[in-house]
Amino acid sequence: MNHGGTGPHVLVVEDEEQMRRFLRVTLRVNNYRVTEATTAAEALAMAQEQRPDVVVLDLGLPDGDGMQVVVGLRSWFRGPLLVVSARHQESDKVQALDAGADDYLTKPFGTSELLARLRVAQRHFARAAGAAGANERGLFVAGELRVDRDRHEVTVRGEAVKLTPIEYKLLVTLIRNAGKVVTRRQLLREVWGEQHLDEAHYVRVYMSNLRRKLEVDPARPQLLLTEQNIGYRLQVDV
Ligand code: CA
Repeated sequence: MNHGGTGPHVLVVEDEEQMRRFLRVTLRVNNYRVTEATTAAEALAMAQEQRPDVVVLDLGLPDGDGMQVVVGLRSWFRGPLLVVSARHQESDKVQALDAGADDYLTKPFGTSELLARLRVAQRHFARAAGAAGANERGLFVAGELRVDRDRHEVTVRGEAVKLTPIEYKLLVTLIRNAGKVVTRRQLLREVWGEQHLDEAHYVRVYMSNLRRKLEVDPARPQLLLTEQNIGYRLQVDV
């Protein structure tokens, strides 16, 4: 079968012909190899058979829910999984992300957004597959922010910033997921622990503290972005 380029192999799961064509053309032009599935059942079977590097999955599929594909894939698939959905499916996106999807795209989206999300997801996986803990240490730089995770030092425009332990933990969690969306639930789990999953206000309060300390204009964050109704994203150049 001719999959296209020589780059990473992407399984595209999408029932809408036009959208599937857009994904196929865009990905092939950018040297990805592409395999397509149009239903949840086909997606799970093809993923098993073809062992793609990346999966791009529409959440609204004719034979059921994209969610079942996320859950089914995540039982064994270790690569990046991007979900695609319509704007009215906000709660589905959160569910998919909490079930192990890595990021999402809201229709309609453009070529550059698709490619940027893919690059971030792949980079995240490449790092995660590297030396144990490599992603937890070292220097992180984004715009004016500089975080030395070996020394626990945070500076903005060269000025030292004092963070509380929780603020620091929250920032480091976002750094570990740099460029990717992180749901409120994921942040609660990572920073506060399983027993606090319903305390969404913790995230709001601490995120606003972080913005006040790290952003040039906390009301118009450039770094710690809100993903409406979903969570947050630490902006990085990709
Ligand atoms: Ca659909």
